[in-house]
Amino acid sequence: MNQILVKPPVETQTSLAAAGAVLTIDLDAVRENYRRLKARLGSGACAGVVKADGYGLGATEIATALRKEGCDTFFVAHVEEGVRLRAVLGNRPAIYILNGLPPGAEKEAVAAGLSAVINGSEQLDAWREAARRSGRKLPTAIQVDSGMARLGLSAAEVEAVAASADAFDGLDIRLVMSHLACADEPAHPANRAQLAEFERLRAMLPAAPASLANSSGIFLGPAYHFDLARPGAALYGINPTPGSKNPMLPVVRLEAKVIQTRTLAAGAGIGYGHTVVTEGPVETATISLGYADGWRRRAMAAAHFEGVSLPFIGRVSMDSIILDISALPAGRLKVGDFVQMIGPAQTLDQVAGLTETIGYEILTSLGHRFHRQYIGG
Ligand SMILES: *Cc1c(COP(=O)(O)O)cnc(C)c1O
Repeated sequence: MNQILVKPPVETQTSLAAAGAVLTIDLDAVRENYRRLKARLGSGACAGVVKADGYGLGATEIATALRKEGCDTFFVAHVEEGVRLRAVLGNRPAIYILNGLPPGAEKEAVAAGLSAVINGSEQLDAWREAARRSGRKLPTAIQVDSGMARLGLSAAEVEAVAASADAFDGLDIRLVMSHLACADEPAHPANRAQLAEFERLRAMLPAAPASLANSSGIFLGPAYHFDLARPGAALYGINPTPGSKNPMLPVVRLEAKVIQTRTLAAGAGIGYGHTVVTEGPVETATISLGYADGWRRRAMAAAHFEGVSLPFIGRVSMDSIILDISALPAGRLKVGDFVQMIGPAQTLDQVAGLTETIGYEILTSLGHRFHRQYIGG
């Protein structure tokens, strides 16, 4: 007999009392970051990139906050992300699908009023056909590959479509865009090369507003701004200018709960593999956060409590980490207290640096069993 599985209710929020950790997302900081980016752009418009559930922070909450700053253009990666966002934002804002529409997904995209990002000539043909079938002019961005070799029409494809009389029939070309590969390295020669190639390719296409800059691209200067910028990372507090002071406000704070404390004598082996054996007495606390929550196993860091740094001791486990709390007065840190993991004492970019990754990867890896709280917005 076939069994029908009933899906459990999704996305139930973990209570503060039950949670092992708390993720605090400051929507006022997101809004301030948007204003800072917009101020840099002068007359240029500023979109919000909220793919991957708003870099893990909640696309619904982030986009709603950005709407209050007047943001009316959003980018996601997948059709499904666009459909969800449309339900939240209503009909007005433009929602672009960066990865392009997979063959067969055009109808869904049309139904949700999504804008296609055209990354190749087959996608262009399919979208034109969708326009014919729907009898509507469909909102469209043409992405060209100006030198990243990832997505977008190649130079040869641009030349071919430019030569065809009916390539864009039924399409409302609202944007010609491209993406920078090395924007976070201002001196990298690829930036200027991509800028020149973008200009060259764009000139062959129907006249439309242009978009090139991601977060870091905004900081390359006005030549890169064009009509619309597409920041993601900087909105979420990731430094768009690595190597210089972060011009953005931090957005996330991660605090983990103490679930046990103990006093160890000399000779105690700590954690998996006994990578540390105590030489003298050590006070420890075990916190309820581990690699299953997106804290990378190799990211040996410290937690902070009342300004005191509490180094990890032994290996990071799936659900827990052991801290050396000997620097605190005895009994000061108790079960149920929260220690800071990401915040003013240890920034997101610093945590990323511990394992040679980037803030983007840390944010999008952060787990789903935290208690999440939003402030402001
Ligand atoms: C992700 C993405 C962005 C945003 O990039 P950030 O570096 O996060 O600002 C912009 N454009 C495209 C095409 C992207 O894929």
